[in-house]
Amino acid sequence: MSLLELKDINVYYGAIHALKGISLNVEEGQVVSLIGANGAGKTTTLRTISGLLRSKTGSISFMGKELRHESAESIVRLGISHCPEGRRVFADMSVKENLEMGAFTRKDKKEISQTMDMIYDHFPRLKERMNQMAGTLSGGEQQMLAMGRALMSKPKLLLLDEPSMGLAPILVKEIFNMVQEIHNMGTTVLLVEQNARMALAISDYAYVLETGHISLEGEAKSLAESEEVRKVYLGG
Ligand code: ATP
Repeated sequence: MSLLELKDINVYYGAIHALKGISLNVEEGQVVSLIGANGAGKTTTLRTISGLLRSKTGSISFMGKELRHESAESIVRLGISHCPEGRRVFADMSVKENLEMGAFTRKDKKEISQTMDMIYDHFPRLKERMNQMAGTLSGGEQQMLAMGRALMSKPKLLLLDEPSMGLAPILVKEIFNMVQEIHNMGTTVLLVEQNARMALAISDYAYVLETGHISLEGEAKSLAESEEVRKVYLGG
């Protein structure tokens, strides 16, 4: 059984048919990438999984449970955390307070503080800045914080939307290292990225989205070598 299985997902924004029958699988322990051009429907796919948008048809099964009619909050409780595009940290709160917000579905203070310590251990940059206001962090640090915050609910599956967006190449590398670290910590990752080269390099499997449907899928390694992907998404 896959950890997450989408079957025939159709999502509309009014008259705009944004997802046209998407089916995909994420196996436990994998990093799976969704790549594709602007407007292909990557963000819409993640927002549909996390219950922020609704599919008219099909099913979204997570550990065998149907999510299509669950609230966004109960989807977090079931073990899916969504780190949105554009690193929306709470600017006027400290790093520590932002992390605490990520634990909103949990009650046990001791366990929450253990998770926070684990995040600080793995990402010392956040620990060094725990009392700094999030709005004063650099772009790369804000992205790290957004990912750290998403881990505070102890997700089985992390949905990660464009973590490298707008960052300088050296920071992009750091962010991808962090994604790998998150994966090594035992979290399954569904990654949306414009940076197809880097995404494929750290993924097990990948899907190419084109105007609302999946045009190609396969092992990340073989997609990275495919003529079509190289030409369109990897710049030759
Ligand atoms: P990007 O990489 O630019 O974020 P994407 O692949 O994530 O692109 P989506 O943001 O999922 O693409 O958008 C898919 C399609 O749905 C696009 O045509 C977009 O214009 C449209 N769309 C997205 N959000 C809305 C909205 N709130 N209202 C109307 N149309 C929308």
